[in-house]
Amino acid sequence: MFSYRHAFHAGNHADVLKHTTLIALMKYLTQKDTALTVIDTHAGAGLYRLDGDYTETSGEAKDGVFRLFQKAEAPAGAPAAAATSVKKTKLAAPIVLCPALQAYVDILRGLNPQFAESGNPAHLKIYPGSPFIEQQFLSGRDKLKLFELHPTDYKSLSGNIEQLSVGRQVAVAREDGFEALKTFLPPPARRAMVLCDPSYEMKSDYGRVSVCMADALKRFATGTYVVWYPVIPRPEAHDLPRKLKTLAVKASRSWLNAVLTVKSSKLTTDEAGDVVRPGLPASGMFIINPPHTLKGELQLALPQMVALLGQDRNASFTLEHGG
Ligand code: SAM
Repeated sequence: MFSYRHAFHAGNHADVLKHTTLIALMKYLTQKDTALTVIDTHAGAGLYRLDGDYTETSGEAKDGVFRLFQKAEAPAGAPAAAATSVKKTKLAAPIVLCPALQAYVDILRGLNPQFAESGNPAHLKIYPGSPFIEQQFLSGRDKLKLFELHPTDYKSLSGNIEQLSVGRQVAVAREDGFEALKTFLPPPARRAMVLCDPSYEMKSDYGRVSVCMADALKRFATGTYVVWYPVIPRPEAHDLPRKLKTLAVKASRSWLNAVLTVKSSKLTTDEAGDVVRPGLPASGMFIINPPHTLKGELQLALPQMVALLGQDRNASFTLEHGG
């Protein structure tokens, strides 16, 4: 248990999908006057260094957030050919980002002033985890509840949140997020968004997600529930979106399922004849009770993610919805 550290994965293609969707959700849900409770059941460390040992060892951000800048138009105010440390492709025209992806880049700019000024991805040093993204959108009346079980990541998260000096608006607890969620539903002002983003390190996480979502819907049917999941050849992973869809349909709730594939899931062999695993080829975001604006935002963002993050001909997306 607990060998998973999100620092190895920070800024990968799955984070681009998850965090772009999260930003679109937070933007919409914090527009109303009534207080919003945001519950992040698996919060991680909150902030990650893209030039730190973990991220550099895994190199996953290279195929995520850094790849995005190879083909995207330079961020506003930055010289177009600023990506000095990133290999250039032969693409003729840069892609002008849709609003959801632009909002994602703007969050990165806000946390990396040198990057904001130069537009040079080599200056992109800090990557925000879900807690920092959520916190940025809160206003005085809103609350954020964060749960993280890993002792080291809990300590980092607590320290990172403390530096924001936001007092009791943000609460951090070293508790099991699946269990803790129950105690916060229904929320006081009857408006909530829940992000459930486990590591799926243990097979049991898949089952726990659907049980937790079923329970949450019973306690508070109108909350917005957001689940990230990996698309991998494992029966539990395959079943999870299907189970979530059944839950939503049975509860007469609308739902949306966005999947981003960046490469083939096939095993390959290297020059020495050794089998090479592809790493994570795809991931999905399942949202119950999505805001009506989300589908349109993702319809624009997903094809751009395919164009920007796709690694081979298998790169594609699907966007299903119902209810
Ligand atoms: N949501 C984060 C983000 O987007 O930046 C990433 C979270 S990471 C995928 C999952 C985290 O859940 C890990 O940091 C792991 O230690 C933590 N974790 C695992 N099981 C947990 C549980 N039952 N309750 C709370 N946290 C848990």
